[in-house]
Amino acid sequence: MARWSICMLTLATAQLLGIASICRAKDLLDQEYQRTSRISPRFDPEELIKMKEALKGAIQIPTVSLTPGEYNTTALLKFGEFIRKVFPTIFNTSFIQHEVVGNYSHLFTIQGSDPSLQPYMLMAHIDVVPASEEGWEVPPFSGLERDGFINGRGTLDNKHSLMAILQALEFLLIRNYIPRRSFFIALGHDEEVYGENGAKKISALLQTRGVQLAFLVDEGSFILDGIISILKEPIAMIAVSEKGILNLMLQVNMMPGHSSAPPDETSIGILAAAVSRLEQTPMPNVFKDETLKTTLQLLAKEFPFPIDVILNNLWLFWPLVSRVIEMNPVANAFIRTTTALTMFNAGIKVNSIPSVAQATVNLRVHPSQTVEEVLEFVKNTVDDDRVQIHVLKAFNPQPASPFDDQALGYQLLHQTIQSVFPELHIIVPGICIANTDSRHFRNLTTSLYRFTPIYIQSEAFNRIHGVNEKISIQNYETQVKFMFELIQNADIEQTDVHHLHDL
Ligand SMILES: [Zn+2]
Repeated sequence: MARWSICMLTLATAQLLGIASICRAKDLLDQEYQRTSRISPRFDPEELIKMKEALKGAIQIPTVSLTPGEYNTTALLKFGEFIRKVFPTIFNTSFIQHEVVGNYSHLFTIQGSDPSLQPYMLMAHIDVVPASEEGWEVPPFSGLERDGFINGRGTLDNKHSLMAILQALEFLLIRNYIPRRSFFIALGHDEEVYGENGAKKISALLQTRGVQLAFLVDEGSFILDGIISILKEPIAMIAVSEKGILNLMLQVNMMPGHSSAPPDETSIGILAAAVSRLEQTPMPNVFKDETLKTTLQLLAKEFPFPIDVILNNLWLFWPLVSRVIEMNPVANAFIRTTTALTMFNAGIKVNSIPSVAQATVNLRVHPSQTVEEVLEFVKNTVDDDRVQIHVLKAFNPQPASPFDDQALGYQLLHQTIQSVFPELHIIVPGICIANTDSRHFRNLTTSLYRFTPIYIQSEAFNRIHGVNEKISIQNYETQVKFMFELIQNADIEQTDVHHLHDL
């Protein structure tokens, strides 16, 4: 018995040593590959000028989406011609296939040299939300450069990402880069209006081809600089989950009448009271959310006593911590389903009581809840049978993608952040509080990551979909560098992901 045990132990040890030496050999091979094939992310002055001029050109094409199916089709077609002209190498490389999907979206398939490596996907979108000139310092589709910034609609959402991905690939190809791992670049044309004709069609097309992705990277989170006020340092937040949507229309129908003899209650009064109750009754905050717990525990290391103790003992201090988080509207959105009253319509004449009053409510559903739970909460809060509740649009939040040591996409992003932004000490998983096209690709992968490698402050956050959207040239150059590095980092083998930090 003892001898048998010793034999087994010896055998196991030998096997472990064997596996270890194979791993070691693979590591060395991989490190050798990284050392010999690595292309340095250095761009000459002429390339830097080309890079920013290309972004300006992209901003000048007004690829505006208004409603699903209602886009500036002339601009979208022009954009297709524009990328062909600006990135000729991408369009003339034998191992890259380009397809137009849904008339205006673009899909690139970049064939890697090693078919044993599972492909991944980089995403961005072509369309932008509308912008009138009112309130802008420069015309929103001018792409004007001023004080080190490129100005215009799409500079933060999301043409900078689109151009950075293509620009990085163009520069890599010019330097004779041949990828080892295959990848896709998916550029949707209707993300701002739910992506049903762009990203969703690309996803369906790839599904018919039997494609499964190792991971994908889309927009949706940033390097947050000063947004969480108690943090002195910026933090890189890789969003591993995404909120859902519940758009509601609340309606009250009452008898119309003359304003000289008003009834006790009118449609306007009843509806106003109902939406006010909704606004005054926030959804519960979400202590049970695992991503949030991990984020706060990782942040704990960055704080001195006693904040580190508080963050490490959330079971006790959660009421206190949540109160601090709730003070900032952006931070508050990370811990609960939010309720926003966005439209209110009733009445046409000063002396008549309208029969109908309508209000729309936009709820962003936290990953710890479902649409059904939120709808139930709304019904209970309104608590008035005279208020009809109609669902206009609803989809559930995206569950958390893996972010452990074995999660290839997360670790590649983590490592690339560390190398491109050595000054950053805090990299955490987080939640995307808006919506992205990435949700359409859940049929191809469960590893969806949302991260844009640029610094963003509260002020810049408000410029997204607002006025005076702009990106610093320095931020954009670093974004191109990041994509240049990320594409190369993805060429390592999946089994070696946990050794990334050694590279
Ligand atoms: Zn966007």
